[in-house]
Amino acid sequence: MLYKSTRGKGKVVKASEAIIKGIAEDGGLYIPEEFPKITESFEELGAMTYQQLAFYIIKKYFDDFSDDELKNCIDKAYDEKFENPYIAPLNYKSGAYFLELYHGKTLAFKDMALSILPHLLKTAAKKVGITKEIVILTATSGDTGKAALDGFDSVDGTKIVVFYPKDGVSEIQRRQMTTQEGENTFVVGIEGNFDDAQSGVKEIFSDEKLNQFLNEKGYMFSSANSINIGRLVPQVVYYVYSYVNLLKDKKIKNGESINVVVPTGNFGNILAAFYAKNMGVPIGKFICASNENKVLADFANTGVYDRRREFSVTNSPSMDILISSNLERFLYEISGRDEELISTLMEQLKKDGKYELNDQMKDRLGILYGDFATEEETLLAVKKVYEASNYVIDTHTAVAYDVYEKYKKNTGDNAVTVIASTASPFKFPKSINEVLNFADKNASEFEMVEALSKNLDLKIPKGIEGLDKKEIRHKTTCKKDEMREVIKKFLGV
Ligand SMILES: *Cc1c(COP(=O)(O)O)cnc(C)c1O
Repeated sequence: MLYKSTRGKGKVVKASEAIIKGIAEDGGLYIPEEFPKITESFEELGAMTYQQLAFYIIKKYFDDFSDDELKNCIDKAYDEKFENPYIAPLNYKSGAYFLELYHGKTLAFKDMALSILPHLLKTAAKKVGITKEIVILTATSGDTGKAALDGFDSVDGTKIVVFYPKDGVSEIQRRQMTTQEGENTFVVGIEGNFDDAQSGVKEIFSDEKLNQFLNEKGYMFSSANSINIGRLVPQVVYYVYSYVNLLKDKKIKNGESINVVVPTGNFGNILAAFYAKNMGVPIGKFICASNENKVLADFANTGVYDRRREFSVTNSPSMDILISSNLERFLYEISGRDEELISTLMEQLKKDGKYELNDQMKDRLGILYGDFATEEETLLAVKKVYEASNYVIDTHTAVAYDVYEKYKKNTGDNAVTVIASTASPFKFPKSINEVLNFADKNASEFEMVEALSKNLDLKIPKGIEGLDKKEIRHKTTCKKDEMREVIKKFLGV
């Protein structure tokens, strides 16, 4: 299996090299030359544990890893760090299957991929014979940062730098990052939003002079963002896992199509579902749920991607994104793998902040259904699911639930549906408390976590227990144009 760039000009590389590089030389994203197919029956896959299935799927993509190497990565990633033995359990509530992706250490679905990426990267570096120290540069809208920090904490041969929007994350998210331990970790608040952080990081990746300079000093950059194929592929696993478990539990018949609803920001998670379909999992509609930053919902409805709009800070901050990087991989597929066209569209986006699909691509866009939830609708969805099912979903998942209801109402489609439940409600207690009122509205987020725990009779997840008492170790902030200097300072060069 080889990987090439969506923009057609980068080198064709093996999986390990694609994982190390993160992004292709031409600024495009790595995509597999063709989609591997599921060749076992769904019944056979249904008999596997999460770890076994992860091996089955990931091996098809990363076939230059030996069985032992890959098994070792999987064993280290999906172990008792996850507070649920099924790793990604399905929970049927209020008419849909919630695929709970938040039982890892940092309470968001980013753990599903970021608990394995450091091991994949380390193994890949060894295979390729890299002796330089790898510097992971990461922009985060709140959840990637902590999951990446935890994954790379004290991994030798690596350093990690995380940029987060200083005023765009929840108190819990900020604390999770600024209290990070590990001598190889560095966390910086950016005076700007996630798009500023992300475009800043992308510019640094393609800054040849800086890369050259750091190379001479013994460093090389890599990325833990969802543009890295090493993050995307592990996410395919849980969609396959959902399907085969629904079949095993007789909730669907073999071959029956299901729909998936994904609260979407950078388009990574929903893209993983699309990859699962391309491998042979019967998925009908990809329901793309946006918050008020509804650039993707508009795109799904019109075929026009237009980022020129006001950026809002919402109660689902991990989706506050106007430039969804992974959409490029989806465009690539629905264009019929037309590299030139993708390069043109991406150039237009950079230059004009906008592009429009041709008619053929607009047709193929039909498998995507887009809608959005307002701030109020999001909170109402939390309340509604709680009152009906005594089940608390977080605000991101609530955006998905609201859009799912709209989808059913607008289309009458009642197919079995999996909703990606992307974060624990414990991670966004302030918004949850606004509608459930378990604690006083002036209480701290940590008091709200306690109240939530008491009222629901749920244990506080380990990942945030005692967080309010931990020492804050990272206080650096900077402007977007100071990112390079900040990195150099941290590396001491
Ligand atoms: C990152 C994130 C999302 C968005 O996922 P993408 O892969 O960026 O589309 C949604 N919800 C939560 C809780 C997240 O952390």
